[in-house]
Amino acid sequence: MLASMENRVRRWLYARDLAVWYAPEYRWPLSALEASTGFQPRRADYVVWFLLERRAAAARNLRRPRRAEYEELARVHTPELLDSLGQAETLGRIFSVDPSDIPVDEVMKGIRLACGATIDAAREMLSGLNPRMVGRRALNLMGGFHHARPEVAGGFCPVNDVAVAVAAVRADGFSGRILVLDLDAHPPDGIAACLAKDPSFWIGSISGSDWGTIPGVDETVLPERTGDAAYLAALDGLLARMPAGELAFVIAGGDVLEGDPIGRLGLSLEGCRERDLRVADTLFRVPSVWLPAGGYSPDAWRALAGTGLALGIRSRAPIPAKYDPLVAKFSAIARSLAPEKLGAAGEEMDEVAHELHLATPRRQLLLGFYSAEGLEHALHRYGILGELRRMGYGPFRVEIHDQGVGQSARLLDVPSGQALIETVFERREIAGARMLYVHWLALRNPRARFSPERPQLPGQDVPGLGLSREVLEILQRMAARLGLEGIAFRPAAYHLAFGGREALRFVDPARQGRFEALVEVLHGLPLVEATRAVAEGRVRLNGEGYQWETDEMVRWLEPRPVDRATIETAKASSRFTLAQ
Ligand SMILES: [Zn+2]
Repeated sequence: MLASMENRVRRWLYARDLAVWYAPEYRWPLSALEASTGFQPRRADYVVWFLLERRAAAARNLRRPRRAEYEELARVHTPELLDSLGQAETLGRIFSVDPSDIPVDEVMKGIRLACGATIDAAREMLSGLNPRMVGRRALNLMGGFHHARPEVAGGFCPVNDVAVAVAAVRADGFSGRILVLDLDAHPPDGIAACLAKDPSFWIGSISGSDWGTIPGVDETVLPERTGDAAYLAALDGLLARMPAGELAFVIAGGDVLEGDPIGRLGLSLEGCRERDLRVADTLFRVPSVWLPAGGYSPDAWRALAGTGLALGIRSRAPIPAKYDPLVAKFSAIARSLAPEKLGAAGEEMDEVAHELHLATPRRQLLLGFYSAEGLEHALHRYGILGELRRMGYGPFRVEIHDQGVGQSARLLDVPSGQALIETVFERREIAGARMLYVHWLALRNPRARFSPERPQLPGQDVPGLGLSREVLEILQRMAARLGLEGIAFRPAAYHLAFGGREALRFVDPARQGRFEALVEVLHGLPLVEATRAVAEGRVRLNGEGYQWETDEMVRWLEPRPVDRATIETAKASSRFTLAQ
């Protein structure tokens, strides 16, 4: 009772003034990004959905960014750098993806929106400056591009939004000291280079990578897997050395987390939250702009959402491990999608037409429920068509056909005639339950090319779309609407089972145990290598040659008890080895 009262007071005190800058375009439209770098392209979406749902941020405090003007970028960056950003090759190098995967204008829009937001956040924080008030806080859900220098871009950092914002407030006449607290796992080399001539600044940083001395930075390099206690002690030391200032930028990097493939500091989510709370407390009277910077592990969105919880309601409450923002969001969209919009009402329409003696061809319904129009409308509502349009596709058309084994639904890009999404389904009984059985599912990005970073996987004729999370979730919603108990498919190769392993499991617990043992042995190999090793018979099970078993994997709508004991027994008795 008391705790909930306290939470309400905190919400009232804090959520009132946490301004959050966010645009749907913060999702990078790069289909290979997640697979090749681990960066979660949906991070900003996940965080804003979560913060609004938990009321850590108020809808009225959401700010829609504007695109930074080239004139504003040019205060910091050379014309040569800005020119080069118009080329897919340059952006491909920055984001570690093939140039064929870069829709230049859409990517530039995201970059300019992030910069515009950092500038406007800094301006808004300064405009509210009042010595008696507590410091105001702004959170921009994209930005902290701290590696970009005046003349050179850095990894994931096309331009330096912090330096661009500093230049903007200086141009406005602000002369106070600017503090930059860089708590990403990597040092602020770009910010230091950009601010070198600024009249009044201080940069403090804690990182887990030694990039040598960086002039102008109070830099602490901590050893690999430092962990929470030693990190927070170093942070206390840095905060004690921080001078007074009138505007702060906090780079609250998510790559400090344990399990990050690039950052090495090994913080827990609790440690990361404590980092943010200590900084927020120290900056209590200093207006501050918080930025997410890096984060390449599956939990990186939780680090940023945690920053929002710390700033918005000063909360230490963990984000439940089972909370999945995409599931929460798509469930809400599904509830708002009326069945008659999906095809079910087509029958009524047809009756009207019949009474008016209008000849209407019988509408073909997928699984007896969805019309082609209804499916297209649903794909629009779930944001799939919008993402595909950003990748340069559209207009679209959905086609439904009967197949020998079920029915197919295809989403076509009309201008090229290419299928972007292809599925073949039927209702089928699996393990005594009525399931939506997926015979075939292909997400196709015919504009993209295979490359060394993005090799061809078995069954692929073109690279994927990077939308499999969304499509899997939509299939779940379809199963629910049809009154089925879940979805099922038979992974024809290792990578398909691996890709689905967080949501689906093998029906047979012993098979699940063998699969988990195999995943452990292949851990650390790039997915394409692991898939090939299995397909080419280079994996042995208990000394014998192993052939991939194409058994059924399922995802139940209502969670079912897991026979963990049988899984563990099978796992323990399955000794996989990998022949070189
Ligand atoms: Zn980093």
